[in-house]
Amino acid sequence: MYQDLSSALNARGVTLVAVSKTQPPERLLELYRLGQRHFAENRVQELLEKQTQLPEDIHWHLIGHLQTNKVKFIAPFVHLIHSVDSLRLLVEINKQAALAGRVIDCLLQFHIAQEETKFGLDLPEARLLLQSETYHNLQQVRLCGVMGMASFSEDPRQVQAEFEALRQVFEQLKQEFFATAPHFKEISMGMSGDWEIAVAAGSTMVRIGSLLFGARS
Ligand SMILES: *Cc1c(COP(=O)(O)O)cnc(C)c1O
Repeated sequence: MYQDLSSALNARGVTLVAVSKTQPPERLLELYRLGQRHFAENRVQELLEKQTQLPEDIHWHLIGHLQTNKVKFIAPFVHLIHSVDSLRLLVEINKQAALAGRVIDCLLQFHIAQEETKFGLDLPEARLLLQSETYHNLQQVRLCGVMGMASFSEDPRQVQAEFEALRQVFEQLKQEFFATAPHFKEISMGMSGDWEIAVAAGSTMVRIGSLLFGARS
């Protein structure tokens, strides 16, 4: 399973992020030994526990909602934070990155699904953030693209439309704010059930859990 998925994605230049939430460290090591280096967690506590137990060259991604008071714990090592949905959070990441002597890569999370959720920006909100003076003064964070989750829908056309919408958000922001920034290049979309639709719609990074590890308990 792993090898097929990983080579299919590799061939298309798409990064496979293994979503390891609820999985014990041994399961991550199995994939690590097959060559997997990108792992993602959605809770800070779990991320910290696994980071201390597993090899140092793993690239750790945070994909779940991040509270400002927890940023300090992951700032020393986190590879990419996918779930930035406010200027306030970005300011805190910047502050903790400075204390850790790093620049932290982040994605802006967008709300593209039909389901109601508190998390995720829309395009006007992202524009306001990116136009603000506060944002322009941040030296220790680097925005590398966008992230989104599609609806849990049986209808592939619905899911496809949402992924297309996220790609358009990405293109729009690239043109308006990041035209000369080559690092603004990631579209994090696609999970176990919809990664093929996401890749067809332009995903550069898929976040896959149950397909790799089996169903979560
Ligand atoms: C759990 C999770 C995933 C992976 O879900 P699977 O369906 O198990 O592949 C991807 N993204 C986010 C934000 C998640 O919380």
